[in-house]
Amino acid sequence: MLKRFVLWVAVVAAAGAALGAQGRGGQPTGPQKLTAIRAGRLIDPETGTAAANQIILVEGERIRDVGPNVNIPQNAEVIDLSRQTVVPGFVDTHTHEAMTYKDVPESNIYYYTYITDPTPLRAIQAASSAMQLLSSGFTVVCDVGNNGLYADTALRQAIEQGWIPGPTIIPSGLIISTTGGQFSPSPEMYKYHNIVYPEYLEANSHDEIVKAVRENLLFGAKVIKICLDCKPWGYSVDDIKLFIAEAAKGGAKVNAHVQTRDGAQRAIDAGLHVISHGQQLTPEQHAQMAQKKIYLASTDTPFTDYRGSSQGQQHAADELKSAWQKGVPITFSTDMDYWNEKMKKADGEWMNRGDLTINFLLTWKAAGIPAKDTLKALTTTGYAAADVLKDQRGPIKAGFYADIVAVNGDPLANIDAVRDVQFVMKNGEVFKKNGVITIDNLLRAGPVKGFRRR
Ligand SMILES: [Zn+2]
Repeated sequence: MLKRFVLWVAVVAAAGAALGAQGRGGQPTGPQKLTAIRAGRLIDPETGTAAANQIILVEGERIRDVGPNVNIPQNAEVIDLSRQTVVPGFVDTHTHEAMTYKDVPESNIYYYTYITDPTPLRAIQAASSAMQLLSSGFTVVCDVGNNGLYADTALRQAIEQGWIPGPTIIPSGLIISTTGGQFSPSPEMYKYHNIVYPEYLEANSHDEIVKAVRENLLFGAKVIKICLDCKPWGYSVDDIKLFIAEAAKGGAKVNAHVQTRDGAQRAIDAGLHVISHGQQLTPEQHAQMAQKKIYLASTDTPFTDYRGSSQGQQHAADELKSAWQKGVPITFSTDMDYWNEKMKKADGEWMNRGDLTINFLLTWKAAGIPAKDTLKALTTTGYAAADVLKDQRGPIKAGFYADIVAVNGDPLANIDAVRDVQFVMKNGEVFKKNGVITIDNLLRAGPVKGFRRR
């Protein structure tokens, strides 16, 4: 037995050494594919300006050069987007790709989805959701819990390693909460912790908070999601500061579900990174958030044929408008995690997860947020809130990952232009072209980008 173990260790070590020769993290080295994109207009959402006739040269996964007179090497593939507008990929800062609650069988009670849909099934749903989101131009997705037993971190790994195409996932792992999580388990559920409890990691004392954060980081979380005030006994300012300090050790920020005014004040006082929902925030609290640069992911559900109410949309729009007026760094966020049989377009086709996600623009329009500020929320502010590889992903600039989207029309004039995504490139790979998904060479038989990529 010992001999076998020694042999196994030797084989694993040799395999590791061989992969090491491929480069750090198992990523291939050597000549990289060159792609030159001719952009009719290139928008910088940070400034709300556009430049005409730009060339973006992409080498491997990253942008090598951008400008009007970039030399196109002979061996580069040329992609002509000269009749379109090019923008950085979009960000949803609050969603749940491995959660889809339905009319049947769970009567839209997401409590029950945990019982009807096991984690492996939800992981496959998440893989599909991720590709649907990418098709609508979302290249970064903050996936903040309610994903069974770590379906979200598995999704990130599958995409990072190259098994399937998808956005950059910023997964939280399990939502950390005080006793009871986000709802009211029965004593049977609570005592045996095998139903519902894959969804919440309970932590009350400071020791438990430290352990819970470390567990999530260990299993691949890139952000720590907490339920700040889901119960009257919620987290104190000191508790939240401990979450922030412990998460920082793993390079993660903290995003909190906040549903009360008191909870929001504790979040602001502790200097939280992202407040999710926050529908009870006052204009005074919005001003404090702006001053402290706390990001808002207000998950603004629109009123549609398939979901929401006019009063609900009005309230969300009023809150969003107040936050925008006070200068809060607002992000595009949805909580899009349900499905029903009314989700069809005029032609009778199903709306996919990307269509449903971008449809949250309805609330932004109801709030009267200008197109350029909505585009900024959907891109650069989203990247900052997602805290994704700072200085490496976001703007279309030399040295950054090539996450590039093209649309018909001009989103600075009419934000609805972002609904019509014609082209998507993620990490330098073309996922969609001329409005059609082309992934025949993006479904791989192994972790082609290296098994160390997490
Ligand atoms: Zn949520």
